[in-house]
Amino acid sequence: MTELSRDFYNYSYDELVEILEKDFGATKFRATQLFEWVYRKGVTDFDLMSNIGRELREKLAASFCFPKARIHDRQISQDGTRKYLFEVENGDLVEAVMIKQAKRMTLCVSSQVGCAMACAFCRTGTMGLKRSLSTSEILRQVNGVIEDAKNFGDGFSNIVFMGMGEPLHNFDGVTRAVRNLTNSIGYGMSPRKVTVSTSGLVPQIRKLAQSDVSVSLAVSLNATTDEIRTQVMPVNKRWPIKELLEAVKEFPDCPRKKVTIEYVMLGGLNDTEADMKRLVSLMRGLPIKVNLIPYNDNAGLGFKTPARDWVFTWQKHLNAHGVQAFIRWSKGADIAAACGQLATDSKQTKPSRLPVLGDQEQAAA
Ligand code: SAH
Ligand code: SF4
Repeated sequence: MTELSRDFYNYSYDELVEILEKDFGATKFRATQLFEWVYRKGVTDFDLMSNIGRELREKLAASFCFPKARIHDRQISQDGTRKYLFEVENGDLVEAVMIKQAKRMTLCVSSQVGCAMACAFCRTGTMGLKRSLSTSEILRQVNGVIEDAKNFGDGFSNIVFMGMGEPLHNFDGVTRAVRNLTNSIGYGMSPRKVTVSTSGLVPQIRKLAQSDVSVSLAVSLNATTDEIRTQVMPVNKRWPIKELLEAVKEFPDCPRKKVTIEYVMLGGLNDTEADMKRLVSLMRGLPIKVNLIPYNDNAGLGFKTPARDWVFTWQKHLNAHGVQAFIRWSKGADIAAACGQLATDSKQTKPSRLPVLGDQEQAAA
């Protein structure tokens, strides 16, 4: 690798076409071939890209690099959920989680190192924001998990941007990653299976709606009054519930799917009977479904997990009043891998317990 190396994973297909045309005098067709080799076939060695001429391959090899994921640690929950600690640039650490569900696995990735939104119930929120991840740092989490999944004979069917960070606060990095994940010559995932979750950045929700990026949207509502929402989610001061739900209403649902409204139930605070009824009124007429998330405990943050029966009562009430509701019971809580439990400290870098993917390339560089 030279200093001039361009990180391949940081470019969308359209950007790659432009670079190939401008800097290499190559056609769009070459960009298609390159994308297919890298994303469809997993080949990053230019020597193996047999349908590209040798001269161009050599020039490309001198210009592009393919940084590998560095898995710093991996923990496996009793329920089969796996948590990965990735080392990204500058020694920063982020977490990704393979969530084990009944018939499939969902990969949850991070979009930032820490988070600026400071939600009171979330451990990532206590870290503050260090920085946003590049598209490559996001895709390297995906690549690393795909590679490691071979050890388990499994894989994932869905990706959610619900790890560390506020994805829409890293709009360009995240939307470019989404483009590559959903490009048919990229990872080839259906936009219905890629979900971006936001704490409610209204202008960015509108920007996403107006863009040509197709992706599923989830919005963390987490309260039914502005008073309580502002108390637990400072973002509500800037964009209160009414404005947020207007943006949700306008979010295009076709060919995308219904927006998911996430509701973390904080025992005794936002889960009263009055809240349950207010949530039905707030949701009426919106093209949404609700995911109820019982609070996952973070010691010291001062919130309570609601009783199991009460969560079922909420679900039944919502369903009975025409609001489709699901419950997201915690997964991986024994390894602090559940929603809102992710946090890392880059200064306390532990020695790797796993062989680090990509060490050979690093050594060769
Ligand atoms: N920043 C984005 C995505 C990451 S958080 C967002 O806030 O939407 C993913 C989900 O976990 C959000 O719905 C959030 O409200 C929820 N969450 C945060 N802390 C939690 C906790 N302690 N227990 C349960 N869910 C939590
Ligand atoms: Fe950030 Fe989401 Fe946690 Fe809020 S809930 S602090 S937006 S990661």
